[in-house]
Amino acid sequence: MGRRRRCRWVGYRPVAQFYKPRGVPLSSLEQVRLTVGEFEAMRLSDLKGLHQEEAARRMRVSRQTFGRILNEAHRKVAECFVEGKALSIEGGNYAIMQRNLECSDCGFAWEIPIEFPLPSCCPECGSPIIRTGDKS
Ligand SMILES: [Zn+2]
Repeated sequence: MGRRRRCRWVGYRPVAQFYKPRGVPLSSLEQVRLTVGEFEAMRLSDLKGLHQEEAARRMRVSRQTFGRILNEAHRKVAECFVEGKALSIEGGNYAIMQRNLECSDCGFAWEIPIEFPLPSCCPECGSPIIRTGDKS
């Protein structure tokens, strides 16, 4: 039985999933794969500037595990920049944290990724009154 990889909780799905050096055909490039969990670690720590304790809590991993994920992400991105490789962002075991929404008028319920902005109205009836049922 293979070892099951731990699931990483992320708040965001990567917008772009592929980067490559300009002017080099893909067929002649080596590719490095960044997992969605590693991408999330960089997003929380490098872009949003969260302390590692807080970023680790959001991804529901230990501080040590978070540091390891972040180091691996940095190493992979550096490898691409330095050695001119293509970078893809995909895969790994991950779950996108959802926020549960419910319309107070018609009762329509739906989910959005937790870091998406709250909608201004219900997609079903157009009511501006929306309840959130966040489970933290
Ligand atoms: Zn509604």
